[in-house]
Amino acid sequence: MALTLPELPYSKDALEPHISARTLEFHYGKHHAGYLAKLNAAIEADAALRGKSLEELVRTTSGGTFNNAAQVWNHSFYWNSMKPGAGGAPTGAIAKAIDASFGSFADFKEKFSAAAAGQFGSGWAWLVKDPAGKLAIETTANAGCPLTEGRTPILTCDVWEHAYYLDYQNARPSYIQAWWNLANWDHANKSL
Ligand code: MN
Repeated sequence: MALTLPELPYSKDALEPHISARTLEFHYGKHHAGYLAKLNAAIEADAALRGKSLEELVRTTSGGTFNNAAQVWNHSFYWNSMKPGAGGAPTGAIAKAIDASFGSFADFKEKFSAAAAGQFGSGWAWLVKDPAGKLAIETTANAGCPLTEGRTPILTCDVWEHAYYLDYQNARPSYIQAWWNLANWDHANKSL
């Protein structure tokens, strides 16, 4: 039974002007779909991988299978980390947790932005919850996913060039600044 591509939680033009429909056509329609196609080919070729959930595959595989499984999971999480008309200051439990862990939302935003901008090469910036319940910022390279380190992803920003190059060319900090206008605090509260 092949894994299927989850539908985008909004239309492809819904994140404009921050992220264009053209970017989502490629990022969702080609990159995300491409990772899924490669993962399904790996599952087809290896009976030991069959019947496992996507999260199990992320937690238990390595090499190319891990890269494709984690990229499928990470991208689904990324689409849900954004919402049209969202952004601004967090609300609810995540707001309190951010204040407790980082001092203030402004401090958190500055540190997260710096981490996302500073990730060398392809990767991801994450807000995560550690096993003790404390929030932290981390970056992962390539397909890296906090699930494999026992941390709970709360929100993520994809900093692969394919996430922003059509809209911002090499100006990753401009994309990160735009991403804050989409940060989905409802999703963060659900993930917490
Ligand atoms: Mn991506």
